[in-house]
Amino acid sequence: MTTLAIIGAGIAGRSFIYALAKSKKYFTKIIVFDSDEHSQTCSRRSTAIVAPRGVTTGHSDLGDLIVKGVSTFQDHVINDRPEGVFKIQQYTGAVSKLELFKKRYPDGVEDIQFDSIYLKNKTYMAQEEAFLIDPELYLNWLKDESRDLPIDWRNDFITSIKSHGDQTEITSLNGAKLLVDELVVTAGAYSRFWQPRTFGKPIQGSYFEFYNIDFGPNSFSLTLEGDNIVYHAHSRVMLMGSTSLELGHVLPNELELRAIHGRLVEKLNLPLPHWKTGKIITGLREKASKRRPYLYRENKIFWLGGLYKNGYSLSLHLAKEMVEQL
Ligand SMILES: Cc1cc2nc3c(=O)[nH]c(=O)nc-3n(C[C@H](O)[C@H](O)[C@H](O)COP(=O)(O)OP(=O)(O)OC[C@H]3O[C@@H](n4cnc5c(N)ncnc54)[C@H](O)[C@@H]3O)c2cc1C
Repeated sequence: MTTLAIIGAGIAGRSFIYALAKSKKYFTKIIVFDSDEHSQTCSRRSTAIVAPRGVTTGHSDLGDLIVKGVSTFQDHVINDRPEGVFKIQQYTGAVSKLELFKKRYPDGVEDIQFDSIYLKNKTYMAQEEAFLIDPELYLNWLKDESRDLPIDWRNDFITSIKSHGDQTEITSLNGAKLLVDELVVTAGAYSRFWQPRTFGKPIQGSYFEFYNIDFGPNSFSLTLEGDNIVYHAHSRVMLMGSTSLELGHVLPNELELRAIHGRLVEKLNLPLPHWKTGKIITGLREKASKRRPYLYRENKIFWLGGLYKNGYSLSLHLAKEMVEQL
């Protein structure tokens, strides 16, 4: 009998479970602990775009890893046809520091209209193939695809982790006390409370969510001078943001969000709703040293985290590596 426990069922935890379901590794019992009430799931509060964003190989380890992550995700979409993932165009534009911007995006063009996006002034804009993710749909799909595994999903919060030689003891808020053979910690920004070797900083990110928006039948993601709009045509939801603040709490900076809204109203010729009609969503992600995600094993515990900007593509890539190492 071999038991496995997983702490955290955000995109990292679910990608790991999905990769496990596709592998030939066998566990008698798998217990998943997750608690959105005690530790908010960042993956449900994310703009969740997978795009290369002008990153190419050969410049840094992190750049190479990001490119591999996007490629793994592209293969996943082609081969597995996941629900909640939509092929879109990522538009990235700039008006200032253009020389630098053009080095990263040499194939852009200057224009005033890009498909259903209308601007007030001519703007240099690059286009890339990308994926828009509806987190609820995709996270549920990953869970459904793992239904053949012997998983006990628990809405419970782990309060202690202790290594005992070949096994690990975990204790939960609801009184569970278990000895498991393998433990996987994919606890996002909350992993920092347990990490023995490396721990990241919590970084808050927030955005407005607007409903009943109609920008036409095609979803898109637009980044203009660092400000973003993500339009979900299937649900007629528009996300606008996002902020990035070194804070460990989820109280958003409304003033900064209003400033982003103001800048986009100035530049875009689109019927943008008043900022007051938007709902503010805030997520807490983990930024590890040099922005590099980590994956390592110590005392029968796997640690996967530091998923800062590319959590939706790097999770599956790293999860596959982790399953191979099990
Ligand atoms: C505003 C914003 C925009 C973003 N945009 C993008 C983007 O466009 N593209 C992209 O790829 N990424 C984006 N990200 C980053 C991405 O969302 C994160 O990298 C990703 O969600 C992190 O996933 P995770 O599984 O590591 O953490 P989480 O999703 O936070 O999951 C961790 C889980 O662990 C659980 N947990 C923690 N501690 C315990 C405990 N002790 N006991 C039980 N359960 C526990 C929590 O309840 C949680 O469900 C964005 C993030 C933010 C905030």
